[in-house]
Parts: sequence; C-alpha cells; structure tokens
Amino acid sequence: MKICASIAETRAACGAVREHSNRLQSGHPHPARLGLVPTMGALHAGHLSLVGAAKAQCDAVAVSIFVNPTQFGPSEDFSKYPRSFESDCAALEKGGADIVFAPTVGEMYSKDETTWVTVEGLSEKLDGRSRPGHFRGVTTVVAKLFHVIEPDAAFFGQKDAAQVAVIRRMVRDLNFPVEIVVCPIIREPDGLAMSSRNVYLSPEDRRRALVLSRSLQRVEKEFRAGQRAAAQLQEAGRAVVVQQPGVRLDYFEIVDPDTLDPIDPIAGKALVAVAAYVGATRLIDNVVLTP
Ligand code: AMP
Repeated sequence: MKICASIAETRAACGAVREHSNRLQSGHPHPARLGLVPTMGALHAGHLSLVGAAKAQCDAVAVSIFVNPTQFGPSEDFSKYPRSFESDCAALEKGGADIVFAPTVGEMYSKDETTWVTVEGLSEKLDGRSRPGHFRGVTTVVAKLFHVIEPDAAFFGQKDAAQVAVIRRMVRDLNFPVEIVVCPIIREPDGLAMSSRNVYLSPEDRRRALVLSRSLQRVEKEFRAGQRAAAQLQEAGRAVVVQQPGVRLDYFEIVDPDTLDPIDPIAGKALVAVAAYVGATRLIDNVVLTP
C-alpha cells in the first residue's frame, strides 16, 4: 500500500496501479478499474465496508483521508475532529487498499483559492439547511479528489443520504466520468449508526443516541402496517426523538431521495432522515422506505 501526501505523487501512484493491473490482465485486456473511497479518517467498520465494496468491484482501490476544512462551519468541530492516521493506515492495509491519499490542507487548497463547486438548491436541504456552506465544501473537495485520482467508481455511504443526492447531482451536471456506488449503513449491534463522531459521546449520551435509530424503526413499523401519510409518519418519528431527555431534534423529514423535497403521501421510494444533537454531538441517521 502506497501512502501519498502530494497530488503529484498520488497521480503517479494511480497511474502505476492502473498500468500494473492492465499488465496482469493482458490475457483478457480490459482497462483497469480504479475505485476511490473518500474519507475524513477516524476509520470504523462503515468506512471499511466501502473499501470492501471497492475491492470487490475494482482492480485497485485508493482511499483519501482528509479532514476537509471547507465543509465545517465556524462553530463546528474541525479542530477537534478525531484523527488517527497510524491506525487508519493499518486498517486500510489489512482491508486491501492500494493507495492512501492523505494531503495537508495546504496541498488541497491554495491560500487565495476562489473557485467553488456548488449544487444549488439541493445543498440547502436537510443537513445543508442546518449547516450552511457544508455541501459547497463537500462538492468542492470531492470534485478535487476526482480530478486528482481520476477514479472509475467512487464509493459513498448511505449514512450520509443528503450527501449522496448532492454528489450524484454534481456528477450528472458536470459530466464526471465516475460511477457513484452507494453502500448500506453499518450499525453497532444495538442499532446506532457507526460514525467517527460517536467517540464524542459520554456513556450516558451513547445510550441516548439510540433514539435516532429507534425513531426510524417506529416509522418503518407504521409504514409496514400500511400507513402512507408522510405527515403522520413524520409526527410519529419526531415524537420518539423529542421525548428523549438530553437530545435536541434538528430535523425529522420524509423526502424524495433524489430531490430531497418533501413527499406526501408516500407512493415511491421515500427517504426518512433524522438529525439530532445528543449533548453537543450532532448525529444523523436514515432509512429508505420502498412501497
Ligand atoms: P466520513 O469520514 O464521515 O466523511 O465518511 C466517509 C464515507 O464513509 C462517507 O461516504 C460516509 O457516508 C461513509 N460512512 C460513514 N459512516 C458510515 C456507516 N456507518 N456506514 C456506511 N458508510 C458510512
């Protein structure tokens, strides 16, 4: 596994693994497929499931580790975001990654940079409404990563459902030649969606955090029992969260997974998304309902 800090080194490494894979396949020549898994490090089993999916679908896998400052608001946790580079690299080596791209902020952004990639509209919905500028930071850094690595496929987690919608739209609108692959949410045994931010939770908050997955289970149960009125389902889910002491609801919404616009009644696929502050930690979770 090659660990690269510079863009030049990463481009060379991606070129080399492509060439190597092509040579290995010289019997049945098809161009090597390079997969990218973008992360902010502090890796857990959710991230590693993306690496596993990329391994299964590609000839070579690059993983980026970059805590991207432009997607954090001024009062958010950029400086204290968990960083565990050594153990991340060990996990990636074991998971079979070929390249790790771990740039500094200075390598990714020029001091006088003024260019942004913005998906208008979608970027102001769900998490974008609560975190102004967040998705502009995400789309800008993902566009940069796509230009550096030039992957054939990029792997994202359904955990960040609004991010998936925004990135899919960016790729479509800007004709990036990248297939977006979305992988299921990996959970702790008790249902809590894995997140790098779970380390912030005190034991008490860790218990309280279960209210997110519980609220989604409630909605899923009512949906399976035949309820199709989104307003009713939303109210049922919201009620579960607001009765939990120590938890402050940010949003509980039922939306179209592609447009992130509210839908009611539910006739096709519906994204049920929740965000809440557990103590000072903002957590998100979601489920997709299919009639
Ligand atoms: P992050 O490091 O938080 O930026 O996440 C990097 C990627 O891992 C994103 O595509 C996330 O959606 C994905 N991811 C984070 N947590 C999970 C999880 N519990 N299950 C599946 N994917 C996840």
